[in-house]
Formats: sequence, C-alpha cells, structure tokens
Amino acid sequence: METLFAPWRLEYLTAADSRDRSVCIFCRAHASDDDRATLTLWRRSRSFALLNLYPYTTGHSMIAPVNHCSDLTELDDETTAEMMRGARVLMEVLRELYKPHGFNVGFNVGEAAGAGIEEHLHLHVVPRWRADNNLMGVVGGTRVIPENLETTFDRMVEAITRSEGGRG
Ligand SMILES: [Zn+2]
Repeated sequence: METLFAPWRLEYLTAADSRDRSVCIFCRAHASDDDRATLTLWRRSRSFALLNLYPYTTGHSMIAPVNHCSDLTELDDETTAEMMRGARVLMEVLRELYKPHGFNVGFNVGEAAGAGIEEHLHLHVVPRWRADNNLMGVVGGTRVIPENLETTFDRMVEAITRSEGGRG
C-alpha cells in the first residue's frame, strides 16, 4: 500500500531551505507583514493559515497556533476550536476552487510521526484527487505541481474574502 499522506517530507525541505534555521518558520511567517511572500492566507487572534511552500497537492494548506507550541495537548479549547473552524473554511474554499475528491486533514505530532517542523504544531489540510498519486508523481527528481503557488494563493485569498463577505 502506498503512503498517501506524506506532506512532512516536503515540509522538511522548507526547513532545509531556510537560511536561518534557528527561527521557527511558522513564527517567522506570523511575524512577517508580507502575507504574499509568506503565503499567509489569514491571521486570526489565536491561529493563522498559510500555504505549504512545497505542497503535496495544489492547495495544500496549514493552520498553526499563534503561540509556539509542539503538542496538541498544549492547545487551549479556544485555539483548538479556531483551528478546526479554519480547517472547515479551507475545505470549503478548496472544494469550490479545485473540486477535490477528498481531503487529508491532520496533525503529525513529533518527529517519529513524520512532523517535518516538530517544534511548532500545525494542522495540514491536503486536498486529494483519486488519481493524484499518479498525476503528482516525482518526474526526473522534480515534483510536478500543476499550479504555481502565487496563483493558488491569489485564488484562495479571493475565495476566502468572498466567503467571509457572504457570511456577513
Ligand atoms: Zn514557532
């Protein structure tokens, strides 16, 4: 059986690429005021959402608590609820834009569980298509991603803004 949920491998590349590895990439993204550069989709009081720099599939997003912590059991109820509501919003937006057949939504807690950035907890929302394991295969050492990140970012921000407006 093939392992389908493996975004941590790509996320690990993010850490390897970053120049200053002493600063947590999530904390750095949250501290930045350039949402487009950090691919930050939104900021709420307790959590924020961003695109994965090395997506497993188009639209692969993450929600992280604002407070730097590494374990789900450290989150208070309000933060947990805000993150889960955020996952729902991402699923709605991704369904509208990309019509995925399913999602992987989950936490990898600890290095042994595959967390690439284990020091800052984050919730992956990964849209899936029935054939994506074939379509998204590694070709010549380069992962094939059908849409560039800036395009995905712009489309998602637009859809999020529209959906929030629709809720009044
Ligand atoms: Zn952090």
